[in-house]
Amino acid sequence: MNQAMLRPMFAGLLFASIVASFGIVIGDSQAQEQTQALSEAEQQMVDWVDQRSDAILSELKQHVEMNTGTANIGGLDRYRDLLDQELKALGFATRRHQSDSFDVLSCAAERVQIADHLVAEIKTGGDKKRVLLNGHMDTVFSKDDEFQALTILDSGVLKGPGVADMKGGIVVMLNALRALKSLGLLEQVNATVLFNSDEEIGSLGSRPLIESLAAEHDIGLIYEGTYNQLMTHSRKGLGQARLKVTGRESHAGGAHEQGVSASLELAHKIVALEELTDYSRQVTVNTGVMRGGEKRNTVPGCADAYVDLRFPAQADGDQLISDIKEIASKAATANPKFPDLPTIEAWAISHRPVKARNDVVDALIDEAISLSALVGEPIKGTRFSGGGTDGSIAQAVGLATVDSLGLDGKGAHSSREESTVESLIARTKLAAIMLARQLHADAP
Ligand SMILES: [Zn+2]
Repeated sequence: MNQAMLRPMFAGLLFASIVASFGIVIGDSQAQEQTQALSEAEQQMVDWVDQRSDAILSELKQHVEMNTGTANIGGLDRYRDLLDQELKALGFATRRHQSDSFDVLSCAAERVQIADHLVAEIKTGGDKKRVLLNGHMDTVFSKDDEFQALTILDSGVLKGPGVADMKGGIVVMLNALRALKSLGLLEQVNATVLFNSDEEIGSLGSRPLIESLAAEHDIGLIYEGTYNQLMTHSRKGLGQARLKVTGRESHAGGAHEQGVSASLELAHKIVALEELTDYSRQVTVNTGVMRGGEKRNTVPGCADAYVDLRFPAQADGDQLISDIKEIASKAATANPKFPDLPTIEAWAISHRPVKARNDVVDALIDEAISLSALVGEPIKGTRFSGGGTDGSIAQAVGLATVDSLGLDGKGAHSSREESTVESLIARTKLAAIMLARQLHADAP
């Protein structure tokens, strides 16, 4: 790390010390009014993080530059092995949770492979709170994407694939745990770490694992990022749908009337699906992918679509799914010569339930906002998000889950993804303090 890179961190530290000495709490109206001074142990963890800031940044670079696109099974296997070693070194008992592959409704009859997940536990805390920490190992960047490296600018800006979503969050978790361990605070606790490998495709494989672990814990902490220094208090529900239309191939010139165009039928279906969008109710339908046919001069025999659904209330999501099945139940086109065609198959699920506001989560967010003013990068407030996380799954089965404890970032899922050194260090301190408080509290 060069001097220029340290500048934003020192600025953060200076700010924290000014805040501490004048007893000011920066935050919005949702932040607690009183100043929360740090205990001696908490201050020692803050110092530990400061002393290790170079190593933490190097570790982030290592993690970002290991490609873990969801389909890169080898890359995810190597990354999981690294995390496994780090958690073992912290005293966790680890186990590899095997993933099953699954079929996808499409013309190509794809089969999706998912890398195995990692579960790590320390269960020595008796009646203390059972804390589930979660992060996803996968990113949206495939192994042949051009965006693979972490670039550290003199300004302290970090650019890299998954730097905020969420390699940064994983590095925050690991170093927060190490800070606790350095003070003996990782003994007599009940902590479980789940690293899953398929969050970016909607946790289609890991959902049952998340749900079963959620049922065994008292609080969930997820290290997805903040945006504009705002934590997320609630989230829309997400769904996804696939349509596959089978028609009949035929020569486009010599025997056009012998064909049944799957693309034409799919086009009708997509118009009907997109008409389900209703901005007044914040319900949206997006046909992100559509494919049909293979050759210009052949009536297409197969066409498929992959569709994204967003809804603010679970009833809206359930309604969307039944509307999609209804739309798929009858064809809009026909060829009397082939009365059984086209056929339409549909698959639709709500893979991330709506995440409603929750008093336990709101209280922890308030605590995070107050504490963040003491450790270098103040969180300004909260927001409602149209995006889902694994916290939506965990909270839907009853586990209060705070899911925006990672780095502040922007440009996620694009080659513009970035965060800052300041955020990496500040959020590691915040995570260590909050984790120590949660792990050493009594179970509710
Ligand atoms: Zn993420």
